[in-house]
Amino acid sequence: MTPENAAASKARVLPDYAPVPKSSLGPALNDKGYHVGRVEKNLYWVTDGVYQSAFLTTTDGVVLLDAPPTIGGNIQRAVDEIAAANGVSNKITHLIYSHHHADHVGASSLFDKNVTRIGHEETRRLLLRDNDPARPVPDEIFQDVRTLEIGGERIELAWRGSNHTPDNIFIHLPDHDTLMLIDIVNVRWAPFGIVNLSEDIPGYIEAPATALAYPWKHFIGGHLGRLGTRDDVVLHQQYMADIVDNVKSAITKVDYAPYAQRYGDNAWAAVKGYLDEITDMAAAPVIAKYTGVLAAADIYTASTTFWVMESLRLDLGLASWVHP
Ligand SMILES: [Zn+2]
Repeated sequence: MTPENAAASKARVLPDYAPVPKSSLGPALNDKGYHVGRVEKNLYWVTDGVYQSAFLTTTDGVVLLDAPPTIGGNIQRAVDEIAAANGVSNKITHLIYSHHHADHVGASSLFDKNVTRIGHEETRRLLLRDNDPARPVPDEIFQDVRTLEIGGERIELAWRGSNHTPDNIFIHLPDHDTLMLIDIVNVRWAPFGIVNLSEDIPGYIEAPATALAYPWKHFIGGHLGRLGTRDDVVLHQQYMADIVDNVKSAITKVDYAPYAQRYGDNAWAAVKGYLDEITDMAAAPVIAKYTGVLAAADIYTASTTFWVMESLRLDLGLASWVHP
């Protein structure tokens, strides 16, 4: 940072936010900066408090589910710790990609060339496009569903349409009562800005119902410090439904005319004022309802509401008007 930038950054006022509910925080991290815990039986999860990875120890080695770069070298440390405690192999033999994003699989290149990487065919296509040496393309791909049997353990991979990204998959571990679905539900937290940076908003909004149609008790969402329950997924679903309902109502109440009058031929100024008013009107009751329930509801609800509003307008044609 240059001295000028440092001074500018010092001069910025850092706002206060609502406190994070205790129920949104996970277990304390160890002195190396991670927590590893058992999900069920030989399935474990690792977190650095912001990202999550998981792994399954088997008689043939370890199957790793995602490799977030922020956890990075701590993934193998966590595997070593569990393998040593249980007297099983610490050798990672398989790495499953939830989707192509660098923040969830950008530590892939840390692992052996002999690790078998498995992902959706669209993940392979996107990684070939992105050409990032940190994310080797999957060696094995699938189209709709694929059941893996590794070391006597069952892992069901399914592509159920686009949601957060076009390639994001459902990872079901039926013998461990667990579903892993990344970047849809942040357990006990509001989605990160603009709907968890998602590309397909109808798909994103639908995904929790698809998740709940699977039988499971434990949910691995990929972010923050906690595992989830079915109630946590339902809570997120309610939050998104409230945003949709409030946008539908606000869009009928806001008048474009005063903005057009005020800004004349500066069309974007008028449109911005109009859409910001709808966004603020729709977001306010959601922020009030979920502050203290979902962490960061006061931080990111407005940008998520804006993007849901745009999806309702553009994907579903809400408030679309045809010139007579
Ligand atoms: Zn992502």
